[in-house]
Amino acid sequence: MSEIPQAVTEPEQQTDERWMHYALALADKAEQAGEIPVGAVLVKDNQVIGEGWNMSICRHDPSAHAEMLAIREAAVRVQNYRLLDTTLYVTLEPCAMCAGLLVHSRVKRLVFGAFDAKTGAAGSVTDLVRHPVLNHQLEVTSGVLADLCADKLSSFFRRRRQEHKAAKAAKQAQEPEKSGER
Ligand SMILES: [Zn+2]
Repeated sequence: MSEIPQAVTEPEQQTDERWMHYALALADKAEQAGEIPVGAVLVKDNQVIGEGWNMSICRHDPSAHAEMLAIREAAVRVQNYRLLDTTLYVTLEPCAMCAGLLVHSRVKRLVFGAFDAKTGAAGSVTDLVRHPVLNHQLEVTSGVLADLCADKLSSFFRRRRQEHKAAKAAKQAQEPEKSGER
């Protein structure tokens, strides 16, 4: 947990980019563990109150998304299930589960990096964080450091495809030997 020094007059865009860099560093931790690189940090009064990165694979938990872990940590820390006046920074547009969580926890503002055309629930596929029928709507800023956030994901998937391909080729190379033994 740390505080990033902030100039009093810093414009919001600069603040947003600073925290998105912080979330990107958390995404690196996911990547190092072989998880899809997404990071999230919950900020109140320019201080981190919760942070998380994807852990679904290593925890055998489909709900262990970066946002989920950041919110859980923050709620325990502030001893409150409502996280009023907070901002969630996340490198990828939240899914429906996480968007629902943001509404439940009354997070004030969502700032995300890359858009997710397949599962994004903050404008791409659907919009649960600004749904007029729900009892809470968030302020949303999208596309902050979007290229950096998207590149991190696409290079991860590219590398994973190459690894799968190499593993498959290695397996095929071994098979003739095997059949020869029979
Ligand atoms: Zn999610």
